[in-house]
Formats: sequence, structure tokens, C-alpha cells
Amino acid sequence: MKSKNENIVVRMAPSPTGYLHIGSVRTTLFNFLFARHNGGKYILRIEDTDKERNKKEYEDDILNGLKWLGLEHDEFYRQSERTDVYKGYLKKMIDDGLAYVSKEEPKEEGQRDEVIRFKNPNKKIQFDDLVRGSVEFDTTELGDFVIAKSVEEPLYHLAVVVDDHESKVTHVIRGEEHISNTPRQILIQEAIGAERPIYAHLPVIVDESRKKLSKRKHGAAVWLSTYKDEGYLPEAIINYMALLGWNPGTEQEIFTLQELIGVFDFSHVQKSSAFFDVKKLQWVNKEHIKLLPKEGQRKILLKEIENEPYMAGEPDLDVEKISWKKVSKEETLKHLAEAKKIIEENGNLMEYAEREGKGNVLWPVRYALTGAEASPDPFTMLEILGKEKSLKRLERAIMVLNAKI
Ligand code: GLU
Repeated sequence: MKSKNENIVVRMAPSPTGYLHIGSVRTTLFNFLFARHNGGKYILRIEDTDKERNKKEYEDDILNGLKWLGLEHDEFYRQSERTDVYKGYLKKMIDDGLAYVSKEEPKEEGQRDEVIRFKNPNKKIQFDDLVRGSVEFDTTELGDFVIAKSVEEPLYHLAVVVDDHESKVTHVIRGEEHISNTPRQILIQEAIGAERPIYAHLPVIVDESRKKLSKRKHGAAVWLSTYKDEGYLPEAIINYMALLGWNPGTEQEIFTLQELIGVFDFSHVQKSSAFFDVKKLQWVNKEHIKLLPKEGQRKILLKEIENEPYMAGEPDLDVEKISWKKVSKEETLKHLAEAKKIIEENGNLMEYAEREGKGNVLWPVRYALTGAEASPDPFTMLEILGKEKSLKRLERAIMVLNAKI
């Protein structure tokens, strides 16, 4: 799959029946990478034929999420805008005897007494999946399945096949849950004389106990917006999602989107399920923060520490924690006094710390500024707090220490 092929057309086809799911993000990403790697086209198609379950709010969330990630599409349409197209196909299928209007016995209230069924030729279907290899299905058990409620109301299988055909989709890349839909869709393709696309069904995403990630079990943890709101970088999410079912075949783990486009191919997409590991995502995020320019890093840092007590006011100091390891209070006092002087005079604190031992000097300075065992380094804290506040805090630490000597 390495050769450039500008005729490649892929599509992502989300149904706006829920917020953007991270599984859909992964599917979109693989479609996007495959298209860009090959110089092909990536279509975003909103599958909104199910009027009862669609919501504008969900569609907005999907579009905004994909935009935030930088996964720009080349073409966009909604199935709800194409009712006439499906109607044309349905009418022709009925005229040609490939489908028929079927009288039904309504089983529940409000159920229709008429639907459109596909005339199943009852045959074996075989296809070669880029991920799963050869797949075979006997379609006899599917019977004459329903493809539309009426010529104005197509169902999923019919609409997908018509759209993929009309959009000249060459590769259908989607989640594994759709593998059982493929034989029905191939039957419809054959009936309307559509070319069969190449299929690639991506492995399921599971949690640490190998359970499929689902809204029901995992709640907000399956939504992209949760990670966005928690402050994850889009670059990190893209990078991490790429590793959910794909690997570069090398040791490299940190990738920019451009790098992924360069190396992505289906020969390294795995069949087995992919574990969504939040700890790994956190690590990937940290690595991407390091790649940001200084100003970007600072903004993120400020967001991370905004709720720390030392940001709200002068911290409580534990006199036993001011000194570094076994350094005496007297010596620490000397270092703090000197540090204060250097800061007052805009001198070079690092030079002094290197001379006297970094820990001996920098630990008490950092602790004086934050009163916390863990915080950003003293230079960052000096910058964030500013000279005036920093000097006051150093003065206070000196007082606290003095009182104990
Ligand atoms: N609309 C389907 C879904 O959201 C996807 C259909 C497809 O990719 O063929 O699951």
C-alpha cells in the first residue's frame, strides 16, 4: 500500500446519534492518514437517515471535534440531502425485480404494514479484508432483508452502498463491528452494478479488562470532548490514536501528524484488539508538550498549576522541609539570603547554585516559593510569581528558619 495512488477515495461516515466517540476518532484518523499518504481523497459523510435518533448537537460535536484535531476533509455531504438519489435507486431496483415492496404484519403499534425488501440471491460471499484477510459468509441466513421503509426512507445498507458507489469510494475503512454488514452491502453492490471497494475493518478498542469501550460501560471516557476539556493536546490524541491498532514497525512512538502521514500503511495494522491506555496517552501528551514552543508550554503549565495553593497566596512552610537533605538550617539560611540578594540584583542564580551545589540552593528556593514537595522548578516559579512576590516569599522562609535556629 506504499505506492502513491491518487485515485484512492475513502470516507468516514459517522451517524450523529451520540457525541464524537474516540473509536470514531481512530477510524477517521486511519482514513485520513491512508488518503493523505497516497495523495487520495477523504470524504466526510454524515449518515443521518435515522430521524428519530439524530441530533444537531451531536453533528456539531463530531464536526467540531474533527476540526479541533486538524483532520480536514476534502468533501462533505449529509445523507439527508440525498433522499432523491436513493429513491431513484430503490425505484429501479423494484422495477428490475431486485427488490420488492413487502406487505408486513405489524407486530407493534406504529409499525409499518409495508417495507422494501432486497431479493436475496442466497449465495456465498467472499472478500479480502486488508486487516482480517479472507472473509467468507453464506448470505442465505440473512433472508430478504429490509433496505428501506419506503422509497423516501432508505435504511443504512442501501444508503451506504449508493453513496460509496456514487462517490467512487475505493477503500472502506471502518470499525470491526461493521464486518457482519459487509456481505449485505456486497449483495446490494452486485445488484446495482457497483464496483466492490477494498475493505479494511479496524480492531476493536478495549479497556484494561479487555471490554469493548462503550458509552454504556465507560460513560464520558469514550468521548473526545472529555479529553479536550481535560487539556490534552490534539497532537497527542492523534499520536496516541494512531498507535491503537497500528505500529510503525520501529521503536518510534512519538509522531507528528505529518510524520504519521509519511509512514502509515495497512501492513502494520493488527487484527487483535487494541488497549486504550490512559497512562500511555498521558505520557504521549507530556512528550508533545515538550515539543511545543516555550510560550505554549508556559500556557499549559499555568493551566496545570492554577489550582495549587501556592498560586492563591503565600504557602504554609514546614521548617523541617526547607533544607535540602542533610544540609543544616544555618547553611540553608545562608543560601536563601544569598539567593534573595541575587534575585534583587537580577544576578545569576544558576551560577551560584552550581558553585554551592544545585540541590543545596535550588531546593530551599523552590520550597520557599511554593511550600510544596512537587512543583515546577524554581526558575519557572520565579517567572510565574514575579520578582516582588518571590522576594517576599524568600524573606518569609528566612524568617521561619531564623526563628528555629
Ligand atoms: N454510519 C455508520 C456508523 O456510524 C458507519 C457506516 C460505515 O462506515 O459503513 O457506525
